[in-house]
Amino acid sequence: MSTSTLVALPAAVQPVYDTVVARNPHEPEFQQAVHEVLGSIAPVLERHPKFVEAGVLERMVEPERQIMFRVPWVDDAGRLQVNRGFRVQFSSVLGPYKGGLRFHPSVNLSIIKFLGFEQIFKNALTGQGIGGAKGGSDFDPRGRSEAEIMRFCQSFMNELYRHLGEHTDVPAGDIGVGAREIGFLFGQYRKITNRHESGMFTGKGVQWGGAEVRTEATGYGAVFFADEMLGVHGDSLAGKRVAVSGSGNVAIYAISKAHQLGATAVTASDSSGFVVDEAGIDVDLLRQVKEVDRLRISAYASQRPGARFVEGARPWEMPVDVAIPSATQNELDESDARALVANGVRVVSEGANMPSTPEAVAVFQAAGVLFGPGKAANAGGVATSALEMSQNAARQRWSFDDSEARLREIMRGVHASAFEAAERYGRPGDYVVGANSAGFERVAHAMVAQGVI
Ligand code: NDP
Repeated sequence: MSTSTLVALPAAVQPVYDTVVARNPHEPEFQQAVHEVLGSIAPVLERHPKFVEAGVLERMVEPERQIMFRVPWVDDAGRLQVNRGFRVQFSSVLGPYKGGLRFHPSVNLSIIKFLGFEQIFKNALTGQGIGGAKGGSDFDPRGRSEAEIMRFCQSFMNELYRHLGEHTDVPAGDIGVGAREIGFLFGQYRKITNRHESGMFTGKGVQWGGAEVRTEATGYGAVFFADEMLGVHGDSLAGKRVAVSGSGNVAIYAISKAHQLGATAVTASDSSGFVVDEAGIDVDLLRQVKEVDRLRISAYASQRPGARFVEGARPWEMPVDVAIPSATQNELDESDARALVANGVRVVSEGANMPSTPEAVAVFQAAGVLFGPGKAANAGGVATSALEMSQNAARQRWSFDDSEARLREIMRGVHASAFEAAERYGRPGDYVVGANSAGFERVAHAMVAQGVI
């Protein structure tokens, strides 16, 4: 995406965007995320002059704190490796900083800042008391041994621990950080601090403080959000054909829940290509291939009669009713969106963060597709993390069914907030405006109340 392809911003917010670009010149993803929010909230500022007087916007686009650090570790061959670690603590006005850690070679400050910025509004939308943050490293876990991953996680936590705590900053997983990495990170935090502080990390194993449904929550939530959007039109997911991208945590449980609600998810992908399985993706096999054997997605097709692998392509050329992009940012561009629309897509629910480019979003909206932005559609993960924090604080364990019912209720609430705000600001059915406005309002009211901090 180049800045020149973005639509013009309202005059009231343009100077803030210009400052962001000048201050963060080499951070295109961060600029893109800020642009998207600023494009929605001029009417909110007009209705609340206090937000302008208190400089809410100018403060919001600047992280409260950003930490970058060296992560040295020794690989299995005895060679020294040095990675870069990040934690951007964007906003704590609604609660302790909260947001995942991403381990992927593409990680840089721009990506962590875009994710941290989005997280502020997403977390606000959930209605839970959690602030916004994100972190990670350019470490690539792929092809690394378990021992190497453990040593890396321990070195990463040797620095990060001093910035964390159950009332300060509570990380979780994201790309490349799953149950295994969270175990190593939590273990090292416990060792260094000599505290078994369950609430300082979410996404923990259910045997040692993790909440039921946290693993499934982001994917389940994105499917619930799609079902809610269809519900407004008297329809549901039952009987729909669904394209899902990715084959990680979000994708696997999006596929699983789509099937449970009577839809058929026919694709999954990774960065090497995608698989098509007209009978519906076999979730057990997908988990075996990706989570247990840790193979590439092509291995799914070779083990599943009737499935095929399409190398180097994305699943958006498939004729489907519903698309749930669940891999990474900017994975669905304008031509993908045009192909989906031409093939009759009716609903897009973003499991990943910012997977659709601005041009793709414009295509969906112009075509009347029900478009659920990640900020709202994938909020189920962090909302269930907040439930994990509550359970840890109260030393309780809620059952799977109870937790799933709470997740469903939370997603209903997130949908209702975004839907209602879109109506209130004269853009009925525009979930981008709705999610941004509703999240922004909550954060801005708290910032005004707490003074210039
Ligand atoms: P995982 O690491 O479990 O899976 C990521 C998947 O996306 C893999 O299939 C991976 O394929 C693919 N992928 C990653 N980077 C790229 C790339 N550059 N190009 C193509 N494919 C890529 O991560 P999650 O499932 O946890 O996260 C997926 C998305 O969901 C991210 O955008 C994340 O920020 C978002 N998200 C996650 C939440 C969670 O609770 N986990 C919460 C909210 C949002 P490959 O193996 O080839 O890299």
